Formats: sequence, C-alpha cells, structure tokens
Amino acid sequence: MKLGITLKRLDEEVMAWFDLILTPVRQVTGEMRTKASNQKVRPVVSCFGHTLAANKHPDWIAISDDGLPALPGRKNLRDGFAWGWVCPNVEEHRKNLLAFVKELVANDWGGLHLDSVQFPDVNYCHCERCKGKFAESGFEDWFGWRASVITQWVAGVVKETERPISLTIHPDPYFLRERFGTDLGELKPFLEWCMVPLYCLTYDLTYWLDTLLYAFVNLSPVPVFVELYAVEPKAFGILKAMATVAKYPVAGIIFYDPRGEKVREIAKILREDKGVRELVSSHPNRKFRELAERICEWR
Ligand SMILES: [Zn+2]
Repeated sequence: MKLGITLKRLDEEVMAWFDLILTPVRQVTGEMRTKASNQKVRPVVSCFGHTLAANKHPDWIAISDDGLPALPGRKNLRDGFAWGWVCPNVEEHRKNLLAFVKELVANDWGGLHLDSVQFPDVNYCHCERCKGKFAESGFEDWFGWRASVITQWVAGVVKETERPISLTIHPDPYFLRERFGTDLGELKPFLEWCMVPLYCLTYDLTYWLDTLLYAFVNLSPVPVFVELYAVEPKAFGILKAMATVAKYPVAGIIFYDPRGEKVREIAKILREDKGVRELVSSHPNRKFRELAERICEWR
C-alpha cells in the first residue's frame, strides 16, 4: 500500500518520505501557482471547477434543469457547491485548459492529476450549449452522452500530453456515471488510478469510510487511492481512519496536508505516545501496522 501527500510547498524532507506527491497548480478557486517541476511530483489541475472563470463569464456556468447556476453560496443554496462550475462543453474554457496543460507537461513532471472533471451533479448541465450538443451527438441516452463528454475530455488530455494520468472522483461509488458523467469503465484505458477524497474534520466515526470503501473496491475497475484530510483532525483520528482504509485492497493513502505538518505530528505521536504505540503495535491488521512502522521513521 503506497503513501502519498498533497503538498502546497514542495518540502524536500517531507517529499522523501512518500511514494507520490501531488501539488496544486490550478485550483478550483481559479488560483494558479507556478512551481519548479519535479519527476516525483504530479501537478493537480482543476478542470471544470473554476469559480473565477464562472464569475467572469456568466454564460459559461453550468445550469440545472430548473435554471439554477452551479455556483457556491447564496446564488445556489440548494445544491451547496463549494466552488463555481463551468459547463464541460464550453469550447473556450476547454481550449484554455488544454493550452495550460500542454505548457505544464513541457516541464519534467512525473505525470498529471486532473480534478473536477465532471458535471456538477445529476441535474446539470441543461444550458443551451449542452442541449444543442446532445441533439447533434447522435446519442439517444442523455446519461450516455454526458459520460462521453467527460471520457472524451480525459482522452483528449491523454492524447495531447502522453503522460500517466490520474483523476479525482466524487466519493459516490454507486452513481458516478449518472450523477457526474464519470464512467470508470469507459475511462479505464486512459487512467493510471483514481483518487477518492474522504474528508472529515475529526474521523471520530469511521463507519462511513467502510461503507464507501467496500463499494469502491468492489465496483471500481481502476486502482483507488484514498485521500484523507490531514489539516484539522487530530493525529489519533487520522490514525483511526488509516486503520479503516487499510482493511481494503486500495492502492494507497494520500494525505491532504498542504504544509506537511500533520504527518510530522502523526510520526511523533507514534514514537512518543506510549498508549498509541501499544494500540498500534497490537493492532490485528498487518497492513496498518506496517504503515505505522513506516511513518514512525519520519523525523
Ligand atoms: Zn452546459
């Protein structure tokens, strides 16, 4: 089982501890960061989640079947989006994205990670552009057409970049295709792996990790990495979540720890807290014990 981390600042010391490193270069807010490329690192590019572009170009925003814009905050209280969504069929946005990605991979990165490659939800997008494209597509099935829009986008990026590609997927193992147009069967030839963010502020309760992971490992034709949120939760909560994830045949765990601080804290607690050390060393899951032993060495 591999260990990875999402870092905003590429700290060489922390990077040395991990098998793979992600770093955001184009975020859902629209914020872009240029960084020196590194073979060990995959830059993360947000595609259709882009609050800035959505605010700047109101006609680019994905629209629900009843006319609500896919925007965060008060403009759409019903759907509770955390950022603005651009309709995946906006040609200009796609062109900008592809130009960005091509420029990016001209540098020496170890691959490419795409995020927010989907429709915002099941009832999106019903803009005139999408209605027109569906009518011209030859598809009779709306959901099949939506999935083809997403698959073809990923296939296009693969063709242009010739890099190993991974993808963030929404944490819904059952209705990915229907809700978001993410068809992992169709996407399989283009993906190395996918990443499921399973974020919690505490990880006090972990039954929902079991529910989602049992389904993901049984249903996903693509290797699954789990991203655990490692900012607010206490080190013990994250260890508890890791123990749950380690029950399943996932490809690995990726910590969202942008400053690399929490992973140091987890290592410290594993070395210095007698109670935690005893609990972990007597844990019945060998995979979890091995992960913990590895983390102990991070200093
Ligand atoms: Zn649309």
